[in-house]
Amino acid sequence: MPLPVYDVCVIGSGPAGGVLSKELAEAGARVALVEAGRNMTVDDYHFHAWPYELPKRKKPTPYYPPEVTRSIRYENCDNIFVDRIRAVGGRSIHWNAVCLRFAERDFRERSAAGIEGDWPLTYQELAPFYSYVERMIGVTGTREGLDIVPDGEYLPPLKFRCSEEIVKRACERMAIRMIPSRKALLTVPFDGRPPCHYCNHCMEVCDVGAIFTVPNSMIPKAEKTGNFTLLPKRLARELLVDGEGKVRAVSVVNTESRQEEEIRAKSFAVCCGSIESARLLLNSRSLQHPNGLANSSDLVGRYLTGHVNSETLGYLEELVGTRPINTDGATDHSYIPRFNLDGRRKDYVGGYHYQVQYSSFMVPYHARYVKGFGESFKNQVRFLQPGFFVIGGWGKVIAKPENRVTVDSKHLDAYGIPIPVIHFRFGQNDRALFKEMKEKEEEILTNAGVRFMVTPDPEPTGFASHETGTVRMGNDPRTSVLNAHNQAHEVRNLFVVDGSCFTTFPEKNPTLTIMALAVRAARYMASEIRKGNA
Ligand SMILES: Cc1cc2nc3c(=O)[nH]c(=O)nc-3n(C[C@H](O)[C@H](O)[C@H](O)COP(=O)(O)OP(=O)(O)OC[C@H]3O[C@@H](n4cnc5c(N)ncnc54)[C@H](O)[C@@H]3O)c2cc1C
Ligand code: SF4
Repeated sequence: MPLPVYDVCVIGSGPAGGVLSKELAEAGARVALVEAGRNMTVDDYHFHAWPYELPKRKKPTPYYPPEVTRSIRYENCDNIFVDRIRAVGGRSIHWNAVCLRFAERDFRERSAAGIEGDWPLTYQELAPFYSYVERMIGVTGTREGLDIVPDGEYLPPLKFRCSEEIVKRACERMAIRMIPSRKALLTVPFDGRPPCHYCNHCMEVCDVGAIFTVPNSMIPKAEKTGNFTLLPKRLARELLVDGEGKVRAVSVVNTESRQEEEIRAKSFAVCCGSIESARLLLNSRSLQHPNGLANSSDLVGRYLTGHVNSETLGYLEELVGTRPINTDGATDHSYIPRFNLDGRRKDYVGGYHYQVQYSSFMVPYHARYVKGFGESFKNQVRFLQPGFFVIGGWGKVIAKPENRVTVDSKHLDAYGIPIPVIHFRFGQNDRALFKEMKEKEEEILTNAGVRFMVTPDPEPTGFASHETGTVRMGNDPRTSVLNAHNQAHEVRNLFVVDGSCFTTFPEKNPTLTIMALAVRAARYMASEIRKGNA
């Protein structure tokens, strides 16, 4: 039987590939969604389990198989970690769901701050797609009228907890805004999903589907169209091209049977995350593309960036020693947007923001920092726990060409595919920004009246699962790989639609922007299919 030829083959089923596939299928395109991971089931998760109920007091994470976590190298690298999941739904299955629009100025770093480059599209062009995604996935929040985090379309907000009210008062004294979190998490029933029951296990997978995930929201809708085929357990090895250098098929290995297959389509969309998308293009060498697919400019893999992170724990004087109550909630209920805007003297460019109270009260994190042992140790830990407060900084990292992903053809993964190698160094600007971000978070906590402060990371770390760059967008094929519609300059039927396309990356979490770009790319691809151009 001849192999089917789909209109579009999407590779990778995270927020990028999940949203893109659903949009394309609803627009009438015949879509194959190729995914290296499998469908996770309830038996894969351990909802609400206490650490002591599990072997080694650790929840298993079958979506991070050792054959994947081991097949990477960090070479000439600062203290960073990149996240490569394998599951239908990608990282949406256990994300924290913070959804922030990028600001108007975040799309024009060159014009606004004199660094990096401008995106080939503006906030105004992306704004309708932000709105569309927010209405589609359900985002809680409030309209605050701040230019630095533009308002969206929101469900009722999460309420501040007692500790957040105390810190908010401190922020007000420092003229810093602290606002309700904006998250793809339901505070009311929405789209057939129930609201949050405030158990604080979001990043270990939500048991009721109150958090938006691709499997709970996108795949059922795509399947309903009758145009959609999900192909799990298929790891894309390389993209194969025809005589003109256009992609004709993706060669995949079935991770269960180990059999090789070809999936054919008229267009291909790579959505594997910044590391794996670059890896796939670099591993797709041919006569027509000897340096990797769409890589005659040698830009694929370059400009890897992400967030520089810091974290400080403190114990609020007003709450330590009070009767313990359950204040877990829906991880962070509040958020401190970037406040280091223009007009202040500083030795760096770029911004940072803070997420707060995102850690569960289930675990007394501070126990390892409290001195002593026995009864007095336990009393001290118990005494401090009701005052627990955590604040985490996420800061901008300037994208540089030397920070990059390469592939190592001498080291192969379990399926014989060259592994990715990460090369990354923080720059002077990143370190100066980190220093101020750290100092400010300590200042906020001091102002809020903490009695015991722990700063676990005096050195910058990255990227908190927010890696971007590597296959950047731009108007000029000499300085970018993709155009403003996520289409490769060099290969007309190739699209790359995840965080790898970001021209620059501000302090804000990436996924809402990834999904908005996916909807925009889907509209463009569907119109090209209708015109017969694909
Ligand atoms: C604990 C946690 C909390 C987070 N919280 C937030 C947050 O609050 N806000 C926010 O904006 N972001 C958050 N993120 C980041 C967010 O999850 C990612 O930005 C988002 O998932 C990226 O979507 P993606 O589709 O580009 O990539 P992914 O979600 O990584 O999906 C990529 C998919 O591609 C598949 N794949 C990879 N290589 C291949 C291949 N060769 N062949 C076939 N398939 C392949 C993978 O199996 C995976 O399913 C968080 C992440 C984690 C882990
Ligand atoms: S806190 Fe809410 S969204 Fe998070 S896992 Fe629990 S029910 Fe789900």
